[in-house]
Amino acid sequence: MKTRWSFEKERRLMVSSQIERRGIHDARLLNAMRIVPRHLFVPKEKQSLAYEDFPLSIGHGQTISQPFIVALMTELLELSGKENVLEVGTGSGYQAALLAQLAATVHTVERHVELAQHAREVLQSMEVENVSVHQGDGSEGWPQAAPYDAIIVTAAAPRTPAPLLDQLAEGGRLVIPVGDRFMQDLQVWKRHGAEFSTRKNIPVAFVPLRGKYGWDEKEWH
Ligand code: SAH
Repeated sequence: MKTRWSFEKERRLMVSSQIERRGIHDARLLNAMRIVPRHLFVPKEKQSLAYEDFPLSIGHGQTISQPFIVALMTELLELSGKENVLEVGTGSGYQAALLAQLAATVHTVERHVELAQHAREVLQSMEVENVSVHQGDGSEGWPQAAPYDAIIVTAAAPRTPAPLLDQLAEGGRLVIPVGDRFMQDLQVWKRHGAEFSTRKNIPVAFVPLRGKYGWDEKEWH
């Protein structure tokens, strides 16, 4: 990825005041957040708000998560640089661009054709070469490139989709918001052979995961 972008001062301030101050200290992650140009992933008229401490709407009823939530979920994936990673819910492509800095390969799945295409174009314009954007139902994972050392779901699931656990590599981590329409718990799953350990992190609020293992339109419109 190209590494010099405008809004550098805003990115540094975002990292020190929103991320480090709240207890995230992974140096590789903080450095990647100082580099990835978040403003290029939001609609033009919102670029000046891209580094603020809140989520932003990106069209089609979807949002780019608050920077701190992106950082927290990424830290929970425990990436060292060698991993094959799956993201479910490409949205703007920002999370995928960050993962691309921290892992070897990234597969990201988005159900909206337009969002997938837009994210692809933005990532290409930045010369990000290790992300593949796929259009489809990511609640079923992306078996073609499995297994994954880390899987991140950036939409709220009613329960953890079984295919995502199946597609985890030995020792792999899955980070996913699970709960109801109003609030979800960030869950962290880890594979140990045929077994999985699970723990809860903080409460979060995401847009719904749709599809076969997600929310039905009737249950959450
Ligand atoms: N990670 C994104 C934010 C995602 S918002 C970013 O960095 O900007 C959640 C996204 O999940 C939305 O774009 C929504 O369309 C998508 N989504 C919802 N259900 C999905 C499914 N079953 N498969 C793939 N994407 C899905």
